[in-house]
Amino acid sequence: MTQHVPAKRAFLKGNFHARAALRPFGAMAPGAFEESCTQCGACARACPEAIIYRDSDGLPVLNFQAGECTFCAACIEVCDPQALQMEQPWNWQAVIGQSCMSLNGIACRACEDHCDARAIRFRLETGGRATPSIDQDSCTGCGACAAPCPSNAISFALPAANPNTAHDGGHPC
Ligand code: SF4
Ligand code: SF4
Ligand code: SF4
Repeated sequence: MTQHVPAKRAFLKGNFHARAALRPFGAMAPGAFEESCTQCGACARACPEAIIYRDSDGLPVLNFQAGECTFCAACIEVCDPQALQMEQPWNWQAVIGQSCMSLNGIACRACEDHCDARAIRFRLETGGRATPSIDQDSCTGCGACAAPCPSNAISFALPAANPNTAHDGGHPC
């Protein structure tokens, strides 16, 4: 299956305040997506990773606890009403929360081990602690780091300058 590179991000670094639903790859902006999606479920059936679930309104959302997005675009190809479109930006990025074990002095690098993009960096601190951070230039928002995290510390957010930003806060996975 053809692999697609997510549309290049164009946003200010390090300024997250997004709170939009984590819709499938290619989703139109909030509002437009909800108006266009017919809740037919075709995207969920087409997703080879089986990560597309329904939210409480019946609309598709990604569940990164179930797996990662490979950006294969199978969901886009089957979306007849074009609520998912290839040209839409994909600006989601991982955010590490305060429940991270490493931030609390317990050795863990599970997320780093699962990040093919090598976007998770650890800075050694005194006393043997290592502080993780996300390299925003490298993180693709694939979600591969979320499920392996033993403390469920990784959420996903859109940066402040993203035109798809709708609300405040990260999206838990
Ligand atoms: S791009 Fe592929 S892996 Fe990602 S949600 Fe769509 S069908 Fe699933
Ligand atoms: S979302 Fe993907 S690219 Fe970003 S830190 Fe997690 S595994 Fe790495
Ligand atoms: S996997 Fe989770 S707990 Fe472990 S270092 Fe990464 S964010 Fe922290």
